[in-house]
Amino acid sequence: MSKIASNLQIDSARLWDTIHETAKFGATAKGGVRRLTLGPEDKQVRDWFRNACEAAGLDVHVDALGSMFGLRKGRDMTKPPVGLGSHLDTQPTGGKFDGVLGTLAALEVVRTLNDAGIETEIPICIVNWTNEEGSRFAPAMMASAAYVGDFTTENILSRRDAEGVTVAEALDSIGYRGAVAVGTQKFASFVELHIEQGPILEAEGKTIGVVDSGQGVLWYDGKITGFESHAGSTPMRLRRDALATLSEIVLAMERIATTHGPNAVGTVGEAVIANPSRNVIPGEIAFTMDCRSADAAIMDALDADLRAAIAEIAARRKVDVTLDLVWRKPPTHFDAKFVDTVENVAGALGYSHRRITSGAGHDSCNLNTIMPAAMVFVPCKDGVSHNELEDATQADCTAGANVLMHTVLALAGVAS
Ligand SMILES: [Zn+2]
Repeated sequence: MSKIASNLQIDSARLWDTIHETAKFGATAKGGVRRLTLGPEDKQVRDWFRNACEAAGLDVHVDALGSMFGLRKGRDMTKPPVGLGSHLDTQPTGGKFDGVLGTLAALEVVRTLNDAGIETEIPICIVNWTNEEGSRFAPAMMASAAYVGDFTTENILSRRDAEGVTVAEALDSIGYRGAVAVGTQKFASFVELHIEQGPILEAEGKTIGVVDSGQGVLWYDGKITGFESHAGSTPMRLRRDALATLSEIVLAMERIATTHGPNAVGTVGEAVIANPSRNVIPGEIAFTMDCRSADAAIMDALDADLRAAIAEIAARRKVDVTLDLVWRKPPTHFDAKFVDTVENVAGALGYSHRRITSGAGHDSCNLNTIMPAAMVFVPCKDGVSHNELEDATQADCTAGANVLMHTVLALAGVAS
């Protein structure tokens, strides 16, 4: 960090005010935010963001999937900008910080550089990615996935929500289907600030998480076919009980994920009994599984061990179990030089820090597949996220925004 730049601090009160100002768009009675992507509240916050970007002198454009880009000129406009930002959509019962912090901190970085009259060597560009959350339209992080080429724009535009509304219709209804083709805005690199969404930083009393990796994900659809029969007259030894089978599978998965720990996790989040009845032995159950690890070899081991355990359980219980892998996202390993940069910046600013793996997916994990990317985490209260109770302190948000700013300055350079 240059001497002048290292004294530069973002305006903590202004950042905090913008977080709370935008939290009114979709505010819930319990103090959270309900701002489903491309809905009316999302339009409100997008309009606010566009106005704020323009007031800060940024050149704003919107791509065909509604992602918003605010470009701040640098001295050398022949080079692509350093990108920074996150997302402004939330879960149905979401909080004030998930995604919002990273997007509004990016705006605060621009405002601070403007106030200080600092020109960067290469431009910077702040971003609000469409539909990070994935709760209205699947998949999550769809805009950044299309940006890196995992899906075509047409594929994403045709995705439907539970009411049958397509992404294209939703974009048109709020006026955010932009003219710019997805992928047009190039970046030299990307930096994202985010709340941790887990308990590690808080438990260890650390202010900054230097994110070096992101977990890979295995998503399965499973189906158990046993035999429905009378709950009163079927002897225990003759039963082919789908729910008892699932119970064993859940415990096997818990044991396997724990064995491959500390960073492997596994969850059965959905289980639906077909034709449930209190006096019928469940004969058919559909279930889902979500397994994650930041190590590709451990992901393979989780998959192999799960399949072996399920085969044994199914054979012993004389039921049929199918397990389809519907999504496999490899682990993310953030650019080593960038991780070092974030770590050096956090240290130079005097913040306590540690390296950390992201348990959640982020747009930056997608972006990292085609450009060097980095992430900065700050603690959130009790590790709670995707919940209206989600909370973070002003001091931690400020620290994260300062690390974001100085990381961006290190990457974009200060024009002399
Ligand atoms: Zn998020």
